[in-house]
Amino acid sequence: MTISENLKKFNKELPNNVTLIAVSKTKPVSDLMEAYNAGQRAFGENKIQEMEAKWQEMPKDIEWHMIGHVQRNKVKYMAPFVSLIHAVDSLKLLKEINKEAEKNDRTINCLLQIKIAEEDSKFGMDEADAAKLLSSEELKKLQNVKIVGLMGMATFTDDEKQISEEFQKLKKIYDQFRIQSRNFGTELKILSMGMSGDYKIAIENGSNMVRVGSAIFGERNYQ
Ligand SMILES: *Cc1c(COP(=O)(O)O)cnc(C)c1O
Repeated sequence: MTISENLKKFNKELPNNVTLIAVSKTKPVSDLMEAYNAGQRAFGENKIQEMEAKWQEMPKDIEWHMIGHVQRNKVKYMAPFVSLIHAVDSLKLLKEINKEAEKNDRTINCLLQIKIAEEDSKFGMDEADAAKLLSSEELKKLQNVKIVGLMGMATFTDDEKQISEEFQKLKKIYDQFRIQSRNFGTELKILSMGMSGDYKIAIENGSNMVRVGSAIFGERNYQ
C-alpha cells in the first residue's frame, strides 16, 4: 500500500476524537510530501535537527511534534516552530523550553512523559514526581510553556494484556491529574499513547493522540 492509501485507512478507522501524528523520522521529505498531499498536517520526529531541516524545506502549515527525548542544548533549534513537545521529563528541561519560547515570543505546549513500561530504557517520570511538578510554584513562574497532557510508551512485547494494563495505568493518572490540575490553572486535554503496533489497544484505553510511523511510511532501517 502507498503512503496515501495507508493514511486514508487510518483516517477512516480512527475515532473522531483521536489525532493522528504521522511519525516521519528517518524518512525523506518526498515521503512526507506524499502524506502532506494526502491531507496530513501533523508530523512527528525524534531528532531536533532532522525536524528543523524538514521544517525549513516543507510548507509552513504543518504542525511539528517532537516525540523523542529532548537534549536541553538543542531546544533552541525547534523553539521557533515546534507545536508540541511530547517527552518532557524534568523541570530543568521545562525551564530551558520556557527560556527559548520567550526569546521567540511564543508559548510552547508540552506533554509530561510518564514511565509506564517495565523496561529501564524507557524515559519518563513516575506519577509522584509528575504530580509534584504539576503543582509546583516553579511551574507557575514559567509563562511561556504550557503542560497540556501526558505521553507514555508501553513495553515492547506481544503480551496484549500487559500493554493494555500499562495504558490503563496511564489513563488513570491522566484522569486524576485532570481533576487536580484545574486547581493549578492548567487544563490537560491530550493523552498521547499508541504507536503502529499498539494504537488500537491505546485507543480502547482512552488515548486521544496516536503516534504512528511504520504503519504509514513503511519499516525504517534504523531508529
Ligand atoms: C518511532 C516512534 C513512534 C512510532 O513508531 P512506529 O512503531 O513506527 O509507529 C512513536 N512514538 C515514539 C516516541 C517514537 O520514537
